[in-house]
Amino acid sequence: MVYVKRMVCIGFKSFRKKTIVNFDKGFTAIVGANGSGKSNIIDAFVFVLGELSAKTLRANNIKDLISNGGNGLDPAETASVEIVFDNTSKAIPIDSEEVSVLRKIDRNGNGIYKLNGKKSTRKEIMDLLDLGGLMPNSSNMIMQGELFRLINMN
Ligand code: ATP
Ligand code: MG
Repeated sequence: MVYVKRMVCIGFKSFRKKTIVNFDKGFTAIVGANGSGKSNIIDAFVFVLGELSAKTLRANNIKDLISNGGNGLDPAETASVEIVFDNTSKAIPIDSEEVSVLRKIDRNGNGIYKLNGKKSTRKEIMDLLDLGGLMPNSSNMIMQGELFRLINMN
């Protein structure tokens, strides 16, 4: 089975500085005070996996995903998120033990994707992850808000 090893955010939402999250074996939850950035980590997942709707990422505009600084730091020029999968099972049909997917956007509205460090297209990455059983819309991620919708259903 494919699993997420780590995520690296630079300039994404509240992660102005390079932030590495290691998802070690046994990982179950992220805890922290209100507004400390827990949901931003989920947003980063959904972003790097190609989400096109800013609203889904809890932003008015895709550019609002770029960190506006704060705490004495300048606003960032770009936002990037990299996610690294363990692919020792080779479920993602690429001949490498780790698969890195990166998405980066800038304030001019340009964006790029990289697969294992090489420039790629959104479609190429989506197709590969789909083969590995990792599509963001296939209910393996439940966003903040959706949970309340489920609870409140009658
Ligand atoms: P809660 O427990 O209330 O759900 P949380 O830990 O999930 O909180 P998030 O929603 O992940 O918190 O983070 C909210 C914070 O992210 C806010 O402080 C907001 O200012 C910050 N934030 C969002 N977008 C940006 C941005 N572009 N630049 C800097 N900070 C941002
Ligand atoms: Mg939250």
